Amino acid sequence: MENIISEPIVVMPVERKDGTCSLRLCLNQGELTPGMMKRVMEVMVKYGLSALRATTGQRMNLEGIPKDRLEAVVADIGGSVDKAPPSTAVCPGATLCKFGKQATRELGDRLLAAVKENGPYPFKVKSGISGCGMGCGLSFIRDVGLVGGAKGWDVRFGGSARDKAGPGLLLGSGLDDEQALQLVGKALAFYRENGKKRERTSAMLRRLGEKALREAL
Ligand code: SF4
Repeated sequence: MENIISEPIVVMPVERKDGTCSLRLCLNQGELTPGMMKRVMEVMVKYGLSALRATTGQRMNLEGIPKDRLEAVVADIGGSVDKAPPSTAVCPGATLCKFGKQATRELGDRLLAAVKENGPYPFKVKSGISGCGMGCGLSFIRDVGLVGGAKGWDVRFGGSARDKAGPGLLLGSGLDDEQALQLVGKALAFYRENGKKRERTSAMLRRLGEKALREAL
């Protein structure tokens, strides 16, 4: 442990129903470096915190922080933001997974950059990238999803995991990285221009119809 340099982490404070607070660690692709883990351990030991839990969005929550110690914990862990920046759910992909058809990590970063660049949007945009049709990167049920196949990427748009859950529309198949990102950009531009305030992509497509999107692309 001595040779590991402790690294600061950006966090988003969240109030809990029991009067405590948690800190959402703003991780990229769910990754914690040794330096980040060291910082978390130092903070947990110092303040007697007992739980670090994974979120569904590939982040971590540091739980059980008394409100009156929140400021001190935030200062010790690194710094805070009011709103966590968007992230992309990314599976290990072909580089690591024996089922993978396409590598995901690098394109996952580019997908996230494309989501950020094309905003602001009427409401949140969740994205995911999976190296094969198993969809471990939640690609089918995200607003924007890329799914790796033997011949390239499938692009899906308008998926949802909410009450009217379902996979996104298949907008293109067998695409290379550039083609996939270009199509994502066009679909996001359509959402930016046509979505109503606080309307997710899936609700917009139900309202306007699939044809309107396909014609615009
Ligand atoms: S989606 Fe495919 S490549 Fe990605 S982790 Fe799941 S099985 Fe592996």
